[in-house]
Amino acid sequence: MSSGGCQSGNRDTLRGDAGARLTEIYRRLLAAYGPQGWWPGDSRFEMIAGAILTQAAAWRNVEQALGNLRAAGIADWPAVHRMDAATLARVIRPSGYYNMKARKMKAFAAYVCERHGGDLDALFASDDMDGLRASLLGIYGIGPETADDILLYAAGLPSFVIDAYTIRIMERVGMVPAGRADYAGWQGLFHAAVPPDAPVYNEYHALLDRHHKEACTKNNPRCGGCCLREVCAVGRGWSPLGDIMSPRPPAV
Ligand code: SF4
Repeated sequence: MSSGGCQSGNRDTLRGDAGARLTEIYRRLLAAYGPQGWWPGDSRFEMIAGAILTQAAAWRNVEQALGNLRAAGIADWPAVHRMDAATLARVIRPSGYYNMKARKMKAFAAYVCERHGGDLDALFASDDMDGLRASLLGIYGIGPETADDILLYAAGLPSFVIDAYTIRIMERVGMVPAGRADYAGWQGLFHAAVPPDAPVYNEYHALLDRHHKEACTKNNPRCGGCCLREVCAVGRGWSPLGDIMSPRPPAV
């Protein structure tokens, strides 16, 4: 397994300040919420299906769609490859955008079945994570976040997942990429500062998700009592009167 970064240069070198700050944020989140034990799906098939179905969908709706797949006896990619797209779309309907998502699942199934005999072990056998990621990105419907979900959760490889919650929390804390603040820039920030360790990347992502739900909500974040308040640019400007300052976050 490669420990090389996807886009971000040397991941084996901790960037001092950013590494220390991201470690402190992780430590505080873990102390506040405990290990999340978050594993989105009962099998690698469900993890990958879930990564596609969760696009623009709440997870509770994805769980319904996964339950429908289970009830229909669809438990692997060869089964998806054999069925027609219209039937699949009906099964995954609760996830929304079901016709498009059925096409995406069919595209992934075709890739796995036609290139790797339907065997996920064969798909993930490469020790070139960056090459595998590039291959996933070449499949219809697989963007960076979905590719990293697949790499991290289904393949157990250290590719940090960036989502809107991560970006919102980090911007408020005051950590933004030094370069372009696109997906690659955000991922590069984490990859350069946090040593490549899939269980840690998994836990960190889950903790950020939990923190978004519990405290750092889209509107009216609950800064009073927040576990990150002392290390957060917005939190340090918070007052019980509801006066929240929004300083421009420094690039790191
Ligand atoms: S202090 Fe406020 S803005 Fe900062 S992480 Fe906590 S809830 Fe979010």
